[in-house]
Amino acid sequence: MPDADDFRSRYLREAGVCPPLSRMVVAGTEARPSVGEAAAHDGAGPADLEALAAAVSRCTDCPLATGRTQTVFGVGDPHARLLFVGEAPGRDEDRLGEPFVGRAGKLLDRMLAAMGLDRSEVYIMNVVKCRPPDNRNPEAAEIEACAHWFDAQWRAISPRVVCLLGKVAAQAVLGSDAPMAAMRGRWHESRGVKVRATYHPAYLLRSPQQKAHVWQDLQVIAETLRASS
Ligand code: SF4
Repeated sequence: MPDADDFRSRYLREAGVCPPLSRMVVAGTEARPSVGEAAAHDGAGPADLEALAAAVSRCTDCPLATGRTQTVFGVGDPHARLLFVGEAPGRDEDRLGEPFVGRAGKLLDRMLAAMGLDRSEVYIMNVVKCRPPDNRNPEAAEIEACAHWFDAQWRAISPRVVCLLGKVAAQAVLGSDAPMAAMRGRWHESRGVKVRATYHPAYLLRSPQQKAHVWQDLQVIAETLRASS
């Protein structure tokens, strides 16, 4: 497996010279309620992550419950300063009960290593906790049904910075219909937390030319965490 330096160099080699970070204005990012806003109600769930995971494992609030092997709650440091959010469990995640395993998960591990981090130092979770059939994207109603779990989990972790992986997670959390190219490259905010959106590792496996952009996003996040420590 390539180490962090290999990963970093490959980013830069494949993209040539990285341009400076652009500061894009996203039109319509407040066009519809975000996951967090939709879930902002009292009693969203217990603050303790273990109790919350146990409650989630019994959830049948949406049709995704019928097709799951198990719920995929999240993994990592329950007090992590950096939280990664993807969209939904895939086949391997459903089988193993852990988010971001398989090829995309290994790439995420290399991305973390390039930031000087590993899985145990961050927290990783998805917007929905059960696998959609045939690995399709979760539907809006499913995201909404799961939003109270997501919100309670976010609040229990209380991260300093959040990185949204992929368009589905970014649009859900930011309440946006914008494409990833318009959402990434600038800071957003959700419930008082600084949020950055970037491409999903699974997309990077198909579109390696985007790795330089992801590297830029991760560098900005790493610098922000360093500055706030
Ligand atoms: Fe419950 Fe969320 Fe699973 Fe739907 S996806 S059954 S809301 S835990």
